[in-house]
Amino acid sequence: MIKDFLYELIHGDRIKDAHLKREFFTLLLNATIVTAAATILFSIGLKKHFYCIFTYFVLFIFLSILHYVGNKDTSIKIQKRIYVSYCFFMGIVFFPLIYLFGGGIESGAPLFLIISTLSIFLLLDNLLLVVMLVLQFLATLIIGSADYANEGFINSFTSLGDFTYLDISLNAVFIGIGVGVFLRKLTSFFEENQKKATLLLKQIEDASTKDPLTGAYNRRYLMEALNRHIAKVDSGELRSFSILMFDIDHFKNINDTYGHLAGDDCIKNLALILNNLLRDFDIVTRYGGEEFVCVLPTADDTSAFRRAEQIRITVESTQLSEDIDIKVTVSGGVAMYIPGTTADQLLNEADSNLYLAKKQGRNQICWRDGEAPPPCYVAYGNTDTIKPVQNAGRRFSDATQSLRF
Ligand code: GH3
Ligand code: MG
Ligand code: MG
Repeated sequence: MIKDFLYELIHGDRIKDAHLKREFFTLLLNATIVTAAATILFSIGLKKHFYCIFTYFVLFIFLSILHYVGNKDTSIKIQKRIYVSYCFFMGIVFFPLIYLFGGGIESGAPLFLIISTLSIFLLLDNLLLVVMLVLQFLATLIIGSADYANEGFINSFTSLGDFTYLDISLNAVFIGIGVGVFLRKLTSFFEENQKKATLLLKQIEDASTKDPLTGAYNRRYLMEALNRHIAKVDSGELRSFSILMFDIDHFKNINDTYGHLAGDDCIKNLALILNNLLRDFDIVTRYGGEEFVCVLPTADDTSAFRRAEQIRITVESTQLSEDIDIKVTVSGGVAMYIPGTTADQLLNEADSNLYLAKKQGRNQICWRDGEAPPPCYVAYGNTDTIKPVQNAGRRFSDATQSLRF
């Protein structure tokens, strides 16, 4: 068991991340600087021996120098040397000095060992860690036995008298403050990392479910959404849902005539129009190059058809790209989910309706295998005919001023 412990001590997986180690070092350093500064004031207040005040002062100066050097952009090798000096001076130089001049075992000096041991474990690795622990242990042993063997020796330096109890308690408070600062910073450090991780996770999630050009969901997300909605209708949680499939007409010509970038503009702005004209809980997905599929929860095919018509008219009357001076139109197919069918069958139905729309001359919406359209009105309107769109001929940026995104 001891062998395992030693092996773990020497080879164990401690902090490998150089950045994290540096954070720990800064935290420890800040904590000890605060403690040293407080102890200087306290020692002056108690009119302690000059040697005692001087030792804490030297400690404070030493820590401040390390703080200055350690915060510079040094190489990992130099940083490592700084860590070793910190651990060495804290545990093997300053601890004996503070013990000797600060009031021996009766003072709060031994509490410094907590910080120096913590530092050795956090900052050093492998053999260096073991060597430093052994050295610190030897230093503690030597100073302890010297103190024990020469009773009165240390007191001759310090003569705390009635202040002994106060000395120990206040030192404990100072160390408490130091460790408190350490832990608080440590917590905020981890919280910050947690936030970064959450953000990263969201970015990864977006990257795997969204299309980078338009910000719409991708085909993989569509399949998940369809299956989710099918399950909802099947379980009675959702009344119905429908899908719309859109495809830009003669898009190849647009690309060939106006260029690929103008084509991209059209695709992006079509996605904006879809997002604007659909409801918050509708799902817009880029199904292919210039094809979009929208999922409309609760909608039957009649209301889905009307919504599709509204979109078709808006596209026709909006300039989708600054560079394109002709009307760009879309064709669409509607399909409503019928319990017992699959997501693929639903997509096939919307696709064959879209195909019909193309075949019958484009710039139109088809449903129910080419059945005559239902009486239509713009979704928010109150007439029985499709409202002529007022913004015909306007530039896209005017027409979409109020778009979500
Ligand atoms: P139809 O009216 O029958 O739909 O004719 P179409 O020319 O639109 O035919 P089709 O749908 O087959 O053409 C799709 C074209 O879209 C072909 C491809 O070059 C283009 N395309 C696909 N993805 C992108 C894209 O991300 N950006 C651009 N600019 N073009 C794309
Ligand atoms: Mg296409
Ligand atoms: Mg097309």
